[in-house]
Amino acid sequence: MSNPESRSAGTAQAGVPSYPYEAPQSQSLFDRASVVTPGGVNSPVRAFRAVGGTPRFMVSGTGPYLTDADGREYVDLVCSWGPMILGHAHPAVVDAVRQAVGLGTSFGTPGQGEVELAEEITARVAPVEQVRLVSSGTEATMSAIRLARGFTGRAKIVKFAGCYHGHVDALLAAAGSGVATFALPDTPGVTGAQAGDTIVLPYNDLDAVRAAFAAHPGEIACVITEASPGNMGVVPPLPGFNRGLAELCRADGALFVSDEVMTGFRVSKAGWYGLEAAHEGWAPDLLTFGKVMGGGFPAAAFGGRADVMAHLAPAGPVYQAGTLSGNPIATAAGLAQLRHCTDEVYATVDRVAGEISSLVGDALAKEGVAHRLQRAGNMFSVFFTAEQVTNYDEARRQQAYRFNGFFHSMLSQGVYLPPSAFESWFVSAAHDERAIERIAAALPAAARAAAEATDPSEGAK
Ligand code: PLP
Repeated sequence: MSNPESRSAGTAQAGVPSYPYEAPQSQSLFDRASVVTPGGVNSPVRAFRAVGGTPRFMVSGTGPYLTDADGREYVDLVCSWGPMILGHAHPAVVDAVRQAVGLGTSFGTPGQGEVELAEEITARVAPVEQVRLVSSGTEATMSAIRLARGFTGRAKIVKFAGCYHGHVDALLAAAGSGVATFALPDTPGVTGAQAGDTIVLPYNDLDAVRAAFAAHPGEIACVITEASPGNMGVVPPLPGFNRGLAELCRADGALFVSDEVMTGFRVSKAGWYGLEAAHEGWAPDLLTFGKVMGGGFPAAAFGGRADVMAHLAPAGPVYQAGTLSGNPIATAAGLAQLRHCTDEVYATVDRVAGEISSLVGDALAKEGVAHRLQRAGNMFSVFFTAEQVTNYDEARRQQAYRFNGFFHSMLSQGVYLPPSAFESWFVSAAHDERAIERIAAALPAAARAAAEATDPSEGAK
């Protein structure tokens, strides 16, 4: 597959690898995978469809680096989409997993690790009085929505365009923003009935939420939002937006569900809650978690007000369960990781995020590329637009085609970015000076590739 930008961008500089565009081992694995797995991957963005080219099949990770099947090393700016906040193969996490595995891998009974992980979560995030462990962020949001509906006896839910909450049927409705507009299903397989109670609104628009409550008084079970969205690129809430949501929910008797699957335990010890609501003196009713709390294993959770959580089976009537929920290996990994996420770790991750994002901004500015670097704590992403991005429509108006050349140039110089312009970048406490220097050395060519990129839709006219 040809990609001229990446070829020309691979010009060698001191300390920067220049990898050939072809990745024969990854390609061979991808060919085999494509026979036995739809699209060759087990989660769609991994297939590189947005940027083109061969997805890299990784074989190992250490600290800030990944190594692919062709033996090439990359500075990792995806960090498994968030979980690897301590870097790959952190010794404390690996040791905890080794010990846990030696004791057996799953019992289907309660265990001490689950209690300790729940205690760690409730100690960090004050409004979480009780927590239920599950295996993925999708399960967490799906269960939180069911609980909100069971608790309130209401059917409708409000979500925001551009926010992703996993592949829950009712939450895949992301299009058709507008006041009190019922979303049509976005994907085949989600029926009108499943999405028909989902109201999709533009992000950061409190008036739209007010209007939805006015149009459906007493009918909305909950408003769910990413605590600070990272799934349309990084689009932080405008000041007062989350608080306004919480107030509107309270006034109507609806629940406010803050999805912290991405931000939880990543942007601070207490996630986005710790950066915002804790200071402002309000709290979400329910919160969802995943990613960092699993230490790279499938562990996630939802929790919140004890009177709401008391509605969950077996304490209450709302059913929710899981064969591998609270799995001993996953809880051991999550606990070890959380216990190592100290104030120093967050300070380091914040500093690294600041350094890398300003390097990216400087490189793009030098090439005259219109861009906005948006940050939410230590999460950040670049939008190829001169304007601030506050919602999904604005995010989509960027010159996303510039990202492809940028991405492939970085890849060919050993820096692994999220393969889409609409994803957050993630760093870890293991991103040291050497890793940052490698990124800095790769950026000038990548910025040039972004500057030289042409809009493919222009050519088609
Ligand atoms: N919620 C948010 C905010 C997410 O970012 C994600 C995944 O990226 C999910 C929920 C779904 O989590 P999972 O992929 O573990 O099902």
